[in-house]
Amino acid sequence: MDYVSRALDAVAGWREPAPPHPSLTPDPARFEAAWGEFVERMGSNYPFHHPRYAGQMLKPPHPVAIAAYTAALHVNTNNHALDGGPATSAMEIEVVEWLARMFGFPEDALGHLTSSGTIANLEALWVARELHPDKAVVHGANAHYTHSRMCAVLGVQGIEAPADTAGRIDLDHVEGLCRSGGVGTIVVTAGTTGTGTLDDVARAVSFREQYGVRVHVDAAYGGFFALLADSGLIDGAPFRAIAEADSVVVDPHKHGLQPYGCGAVLFRDPGVGRLYKHDSPYTYFTSAELHLGEISLECSRAGAAAAALWLTLRALDLAPILSAGVRAAQAWAALIRASDVLTLHREPELDILTYFPSGTRASEIDAASERVLQAGMSGEDPVFLSTLRIGADAFAAAHPEIELDADGVRVLRSVLMKPEHEPHVPWLHERVSRIARS
Ligand SMILES: *Cc1c(COP(=O)(O)O)cnc(C)c1O
Repeated sequence: MDYVSRALDAVAGWREPAPPHPSLTPDPARFEAAWGEFVERMGSNYPFHHPRYAGQMLKPPHPVAIAAYTAALHVNTNNHALDGGPATSAMEIEVVEWLARMFGFPEDALGHLTSSGTIANLEALWVARELHPDKAVVHGANAHYTHSRMCAVLGVQGIEAPADTAGRIDLDHVEGLCRSGGVGTIVVTAGTTGTGTLDDVARAVSFREQYGVRVHVDAAYGGFFALLADSGLIDGAPFRAIAEADSVVVDPHKHGLQPYGCGAVLFRDPGVGRLYKHDSPYTYFTSAELHLGEISLECSRAGAAAAALWLTLRALDLAPILSAGVRAAQAWAALIRASDVLTLHREPELDILTYFPSGTRASEIDAASERVLQAGMSGEDPVFLSTLRIGADAFAAAHPEIELDADGVRVLRSVLMKPEHEPHVPWLHERVSRIARS
């Protein structure tokens, strides 16, 4: 289907063409030169769309999202206020209700889209600080670095709890901190950025009742796997427990098939809306209804982002797409377990696989990972991976048989987030094994 011409047809129906103005017409020769340079420079990207790219958390948006985004972009609505984007604001409210249902949050949960997971987490931590002004935020050593950084931004004491041998936040340690009484909020991760590890959300939630702390779930990466909670393919318990958390973050621009610029934050208690209260003299003219800008730290936000997510969720099922990635990680893990040249770093819990060229010393493994990464990207039939640095303690805990002669070890990491990865697993394994052997 030609999604983009469909988008342009839609735009033609909405817009009264404005009379042309000469100041808006580029000089043709200058435009041609600039366009030529643009096309050439963009050609330097890695093939993120292809299964041979099995590295970082990167993939192009779905054409359905591109079509909606492209069409909406021509109007360029602003979801700060209903005046700026009545249609896309209504779509945003509907997609947030969809996300709330996915997490088992009550119907009146409060939430909105954000420009990213970083801003969504900032907002959740800001609410946490407002409700527990003098208490600490505890996050795991396995958590995204944004939490310690945002604690600094907010002037909140951030405490980093260690990870246990399985790579989860050590909740025994966290419970000790809660008992001491200075903890206001616990951040747990449902799908860590490095390895896709699921923290024990249910146990963290039990601390809510026991110690009166808030629980925030950073599901920026993993949130959409809630759709697979009852599939038997993954451990569904952490996702089911999100329903009892105070807030959750999910990034539709990671597993929701969206272009960048689409995160989301949701609060179980709509009462936190009062914290945002402000009077903008600029934007609220037409309606007594809630403007999204009244419950958001950001002002201008792309209405096109809401439009793209809305159309995507209407037109596609995400569960089969996510399942294919999980099966790809499980299938490749099985091949690596049987391999004599590659070793699994951790069993995959979602669709992220970590592994390394087999070896007996940490320094040797670190160098070999870097060599495979570089060699993979060159030649006729390249494969694109990423590396992840594992701290000495975590590496030693996972691989006690390996001699630890370095203070950290880079391992190979593949985020298998495209369903096309699944049929390519034998090729990926063969290709990476060949490079590791040579
Ligand atoms: C990606 C990610 C973030 C940051 O989100 P951005 O959208 O990149 O700003 C935060 N937490 C986790 C767990 C993530 O995977």
